[in-house]
Amino acid sequence: MAENRVALITGAGRGIGAKIALTLAADKTDIAVVDYSDEAAAKETMDALSALGVKAKYYRCDVSDYSAVKTVVDTVVKDFGKIDILVNNAGVTADKLLLRMEEADWDRVLNINLKGCFNLIKHVTPYMMRKRYGRIVSISSVVGMMGNAGQANYAASKAGVIGLTKTVAKEFGPRGITANAVAPGFVKTAMTDALSEEQKQAMYKLIPLGTLGETEDIANAVKFLTSDAARYITGVVLKVDGGMYI
Ligand code: NAD
Repeated sequence: MAENRVALITGAGRGIGAKIALTLAADKTDIAVVDYSDEAAAKETMDALSALGVKAKYYRCDVSDYSAVKTVVDTVVKDFGKIDILVNNAGVTADKLLLRMEEADWDRVLNINLKGCFNLIKHVTPYMMRKRYGRIVSISSVVGMMGNAGQANYAASKAGVIGLTKTVAKEFGPRGITANAVAPGFVKTAMTDALSEEQKQAMYKLIPLGTLGETEDIANAVKFLTSDAARYITGVVLKVDGGMYI
């Protein structure tokens, strides 16, 4: 029997990251969950992963902390023996018009959403290079391509993820490592559930397919990009947005 692949997924305690973890686990992938907050949700995700019969471990770590990430990556490799797949999914928002945006709002969002990806890629790639194999997928956003009033920090961080991904694809392609980004549009999560019906109707008008995405739509894109079927695909940004940005 072939040995399971190993995926390190950040922000996998809940939301889109949890769905990515469960989708890859259903495909016989062992999962290292790296998350920071909402331990109650993470516990539920860990239970669901165990129920799928894969090896799964939780590591509490702030992805913006360079040396803490190094420690966690080294520990994951000790625990699992390797990392085949890295999914940079952890992300936050701190929305304000630029006129009101504080330096701290900018720094927090850029440090978690963009530097967090750098930290993981920096510490995971040496292990991937030794195996001459790796699949890196980072979660961007259509907002990183469109811009969005009230999200200067978030849009800049998600545009940065695209530049980082394309560069990593060029630098690490010769080492057998692919790097791609997935750019979701509006996805049904706790965040979008909180919107009023009126706000939702306004959103639907922007989306040719007329509805919000589900977390499984994003997870399926990640599953494809980390599968053998995508072995010749690197440096792409796969929009999963119902046509919101064409
Ligand atoms: P979420 O808030 O439900 O989940 C984010 C996860 O990241 C949480 O588990 C949280 O604990 C973790 N996290 C936050 N800061 C962290 C840190 N410093 N270190 C480690 N983990 C941390 O959000 P979500 O909607 O599931 O979003 C997941 C990703 O998808 C994010 O990168 C987000 O920007 C992106 N995205 C979401 C949407 C959407 O509509 N929900 C749209 C486009 C892009």
